[in-house]
Amino acid sequence: MTRKKTGFDDQLEVKGAEEHNLKHINLTIPKQKLVVFTGVSGSGKSSMAFDTIFAEGQRRYVESLSSYARQFLGQMDKPKYETIRGLSPTISIEQKAASKNPRSTVGTITEVYDYLRVLYARIGIQHCHKCGEEVGRGDPESMANQILELEPKTKVLLLAPIIENRKGEHKDLLEELKKEGYLRVRVNGVVSNIDDVQALTKHKKHTIEVVVDRLAIKKRAPEFRTRLRDSVETTVKLGKGQLVVHVVDGKDMRMSEARSCCGFAFPELDPPLFSFNSPQGMCTDCNGLGTVMAMDPDKFIPDQNLSIREGAVVPWQNYFTNGGEDKGGSWSKERFLAMETQWGIDFDTPWKSLPKKQKDLILHGGDKTLTISWEGEKSAGTWTHEYEGLLHSYMRRYLKTKSDSMKTWYQKYMSSSPCSSCQGMRLKDEVLTVFVAEKSIMDICALSIEDALKFFKSLKLTGNQQLIAKELIKEIINRLEFLVNVGLGYLNMNRHGPTLSGGEAQRIRLASQIGCELTGVLYILDEPSIGLHQRDNRKLLHTLCKLRDLGNSLIVVEHDQETIEEADYVVDFGPGAGVEGGQITAHGTPAQIKRARTSVTGKYLSGKLNIEVPEERRHVTPSSPRIRIIGAKENNLRNITVDIPLGVMTAVTGVSGAGKSTLINQILYPAIAKKLHHSERAVGSHDKIEGIQHIDKIINIDQKPIGRTPRSNPATYTKVFDLIRDFYALLPESKLRGYKKGRFSFNVKGGRCENCQGDGSIKVEMHFLADVFVPCEVCQGRRFNDSTCEILYKGRSIADVLDLSVAEACDVFANHPKILEVLTTLMDVGLSYIKLGQSATTLSGGEAQRIKLARELAKRDTGRTLYILDEPTTGLHFHDIAQLLRVLQRLADNGNTIVIIEHNLDVIKCADWIVDIGPEGGHRGGKLVAQGTPEKVARLKRSVTGEYLKDYL
Ligand code: ADP
Ligand code: ADP
Ligand code: ZN
Ligand code: ZN
Repeated sequence: MTRKKTGFDDQLEVKGAEEHNLKHINLTIPKQKLVVFTGVSGSGKSSMAFDTIFAEGQRRYVESLSSYARQFLGQMDKPKYETIRGLSPTISIEQKAASKNPRSTVGTITEVYDYLRVLYARIGIQHCHKCGEEVGRGDPESMANQILELEPKTKVLLLAPIIENRKGEHKDLLEELKKEGYLRVRVNGVVSNIDDVQALTKHKKHTIEVVVDRLAIKKRAPEFRTRLRDSVETTVKLGKGQLVVHVVDGKDMRMSEARSCCGFAFPELDPPLFSFNSPQGMCTDCNGLGTVMAMDPDKFIPDQNLSIREGAVVPWQNYFTNGGEDKGGSWSKERFLAMETQWGIDFDTPWKSLPKKQKDLILHGGDKTLTISWEGEKSAGTWTHEYEGLLHSYMRRYLKTKSDSMKTWYQKYMSSSPCSSCQGMRLKDEVLTVFVAEKSIMDICALSIEDALKFFKSLKLTGNQQLIAKELIKEIINRLEFLVNVGLGYLNMNRHGPTLSGGEAQRIRLASQIGCELTGVLYILDEPSIGLHQRDNRKLLHTLCKLRDLGNSLIVVEHDQETIEEADYVVDFGPGAGVEGGQITAHGTPAQIKRARTSVTGKYLSGKLNIEVPEERRHVTPSSPRIRIIGAKENNLRNITVDIPLGVMTAVTGVSGAGKSTLINQILYPAIAKKLHHSERAVGSHDKIEGIQHIDKIINIDQKPIGRTPRSNPATYTKVFDLIRDFYALLPESKLRGYKKGRFSFNVKGGRCENCQGDGSIKVEMHFLADVFVPCEVCQGRRFNDSTCEILYKGRSIADVLDLSVAEACDVFANHPKILEVLTTLMDVGLSYIKLGQSATTLSGGEAQRIKLARELAKRDTGRTLYILDEPTTGLHFHDIAQLLRVLQRLADNGNTIVIIEHNLDVIKCADWIVDIGPEGGHRGGKLVAQGTPEKVARLKRSVTGEYLKDYL
């Protein structure tokens, strides 16, 4: 097929791109295609995709906005390029964007919840939250509509209730009705002509309803609808807001204008009523959060095996274990003595063996009083008071204190628990009793997305309801289907945004984009395969192709082999990272890339280069020492027991949502960190962990940013900057001028530029866009003042050093073993290209993780350390992975234990031991599918991971 060379309708062209490390390069890619940017980490893929193409797209968008917005344009850095042509409106879907808003849920982020709210407002049926009866629908119009939902040809009588269960003969009333022209009534359930009504017994209760109209339902006839509405109106007026529809051969339908029941007036059904963010809908006790902070007994007694004297009760530890019988505050001694003598509490019994009554007394108080006697130099006396219990007392003081630091201090003893008035459902009772097909809006949100999809697909609505709801339900099904297709069917819509992983959040945003059905948009994505099992990758690819087939263009920064092979077009960046990269080494179809001699990616794709399976694995025998997690039950884990052999590399595998992070990040890590390092993080539910005595240190190398301000950077984080500053202070010129180490810090006054206080940039607030940083005009971003920059080593000032890449710095400091040692660890984890002073805020999660890894490598490992890594291959090319594996193997060779949560099969195949969790995500996962060597797991039919692993061994 030949492509027209002209016209930017079908291609995007970038000329002279120079952002970051890009070397004035040109790029032409086809539009409405799936284009993959690949290449080793740091080669410049993101600089092209995000910092050039997306940034320019944003700029042009701002340019098209109001003049108010445009005034900031001058301050937005224009990306460095010569020309860009054929640029469509651009949307980027990154992983960082995960919502931190505690009010966001999967439902709100995907907008499914917004559709649900409209659905419930339109067709939901209000029930009384006290008696459970259906509540009236309000105005005559909706009553008429409800009647219209009956089967055609159904015969009905419209009745106006006049007398309800009242004693009397009601003779005058019947006369009156006849005069007004009514012919028929229903008395105590029997319909007859007024004239035929038998005299009513005076002292009995009767019910009388007037027949206003008799009708047979004809849906399509407009004149019928008019008549029905008129009659309903008359009936409601006569019935003082009440109406009964008598269905001949059927059940009565009661309707009421008042929307009230059990003395409670129900609100109109409006979309905001169903929002837990609006005052109309939110539970008033938790303000719609679903959780409340309360004092947590477990925080007061973290280890029930200890006795009080051994420090079981945290707030009393100071008194009992820190030797300071005087340190406990006023009257402590007397108070504890009183507890011992008056309540009989034995301070030497382990907490768990104390009688329940005593434990309750200490924590929750009770009706027992405590009499404290004291005898001091100045005074003596007794004081009898009702002991209120630790929880109470702390809560009271927490609520009373005005000091933020005290509040934070008390919060150590609190944890969030479901709100007791809404049971965590976030909405008011009367909102939760509005049903569609007998489910409340929160019942739907509690379903897994998969089950919610089934629910809506099989939802049978009739008549008007169907007409009203059809479009809404279509939208809802659409979105749910996309979520299932990107492997997120196990999530439920109630799940809080901040608890989602980066990969999950990105795929959710992706699904909501598809729901928008935009066309002609350029989407830019950052490694969408992160967090996804190989099995679900295909579904994700389908989703991407669907976006493309809607008429959109896609640029996907990705290292996953399958994605690269499925792409319409591939651009390979390289050849190296940083200054050694910034060029395009090959472009074309995947087949062309495979043949391209210049492409490292091509070599891996074609198998010329390979990540080798280790020739020999470290042996794990049944008697090898190990850590054993027993009875893990947090989230979806089903009481599983898992072995982590020591001194080897273990890969924890399984589909997304299987429970891997729950096991490792919510149980293993916090439990051991608590034991070894007294960390206070919450530990997920489990029975016991054995074997902790074999390790002396645990380190979690996660992808959280290494700092949130531009002030932290690789040099400060790894502490190599300390060494460099020491060295600069020793230079002869420094000594001459009396410059000390502090002079070379951008964090303290003296040597730094005071205009930007050492930031090198100034923050400009953009009101409705993200804040923008512009270079400081005094120091031009150098961060230091002129005199500091006059101190040179090999012609470089301290500011110049921060601008060096790691590789360059290795040359400069080749003769300084201590500095070199740290730099080498950065090289080892594949960060040769990173600038020493690159601000932490511009580092990707993967880069941050590798910097942490480098810092750990630079420390002397104990040989008995347990390292935990969560998807360390994020952002890594085959080539980088090979390097990372070498580093990890080295750590294991020294006797350390490595646990890696990973989907990348090249990593999994190199592990010594696999823990495979699953078989599926969410409630269909959480079991231990298999554990053992890669060879063993690959042989097991029941392991999905094994299926895929087979081809790699
Ligand atoms: P890739 O996406 O291929 O991993 P990047 O485009 O992120 O690579 O990085 C290319 C080079 O540009 C690297 O040397 C990186 O350190 C540098 N770089 C990236 N972002 C910034 C930034 N905000 N400031 C300075 N240098 C950067
Ligand atoms: P994996 O790491 O294998 O992708 P996770 O351990 O993250 O899986 O999740 C396992 C299950 O626990 C999923 O159903 C997930 O939705 C649920 N889950 C994980 N974290 C939380 C949390 N903070 N709150 C509620 N549910 C959670
Ligand atoms: Zn509540
Ligand atoms: Zn400055």
